[in-house]
Amino acid sequence: MQIGIVGLGLIGGSLGLDFRALGHRVLGVSRQAQTCELALVRGAVDQAATTPELLTQADIVFLCTPLGVMSATVERLIPHLPPGAILTDVGSVKASVVEQLAPLWPNFVGGHPMAGTAETGIAAAQTQLFQKRPYVLTPTPATPRASIHILTELVQSLGCQMFTCDPATHDQAVALISHLPVFISANLIATASHAASPEIIRLAEQLASSGFKDASRVGGGNPELGRMMAEYNHTALLSALYAYRQGLDTWIAQIENQQWDDLEGQLQQTQAQRPRFL
Ligand code: NAP
Repeated sequence: MQIGIVGLGLIGGSLGLDFRALGHRVLGVSRQAQTCELALVRGAVDQAATTPELLTQADIVFLCTPLGVMSATVERLIPHLPPGAILTDVGSVKASVVEQLAPLWPNFVGGHPMAGTAETGIAAAQTQLFQKRPYVLTPTPATPRASIHILTELVQSLGCQMFTCDPATHDQAVALISHLPVFISANLIATASHAASPEIIRLAEQLASSGFKDASRVGGGNPELGRMMAEYNHTALLSALYAYRQGLDTWIAQIENQQWDDLEGQLQQTQAQRPRFL
């Protein structure tokens, strides 16, 4: 297949590396000439340009830019897309993206690979980033069935585990397991960085080990991505944050009231629940 990738960053570049390894021809479009050059050097694309003309040959196009520029980007692509091309995106939020993009290109299928690292840009692209990771498609009743089928087969060839749901359900689920953790983790880093005395902070920095490393990882990632999650998935994220705040209040009350049995009972529940998510 001839696969277009628009936005040659971590996700776009990683898709390019894997699609080329599978024998597809990858046509890359990115904002900066130096990104296009590096994508060619790294073998993530067969051809790359800062303008979208080369997409006239594409069978399917993956939109891999930040969420905030997706609809403006699609408007610029449209004059160059072949009429039968499938357009999909990789955005971490789906309802607002599908709402904006589906009216622009009816052969659009929303998608979200649940894979990433703390790094950004083409230099961070890696092979097999998507292997054994979930990949969610969020079609609507109007999405062409044949396009869902083609995209499913293509994404499965990356080694992904496929899921399909409607955009709003996707956003509520990822708010709980992807977006909420970013803000909890960021708050942990902020709390540790503003302890009562500089001496305690310095010692905490030196003592931080595997527990802090695990718990702080997603809060120490790309700030732009966190902002996009909050901005584009604000309703679901706020519901998750309110529920989390209620949970924190319960822990605080149990500790204040020295309800050690209740507290341990709740920790027993979370110990039993965790494996269901992983
Ligand atoms: P990234 O590494 O920063 O890559 C974004 C790409 O978009 C870059 O190639 C950049 O091109 C281009 N770009 C940036 N700003 C632009 C603008 N204003 N106009 C046009 N192009 C622009 O980001 P990423 O992590 O790959 O994320 C890309 C998409 O994947 C996002 O929609 C995100 O929601 C989604 N996603 C991310 C993750 C994750 O963990 N990172 C996971 C799943 C989905 P130049 O280099 O040429 O400037």
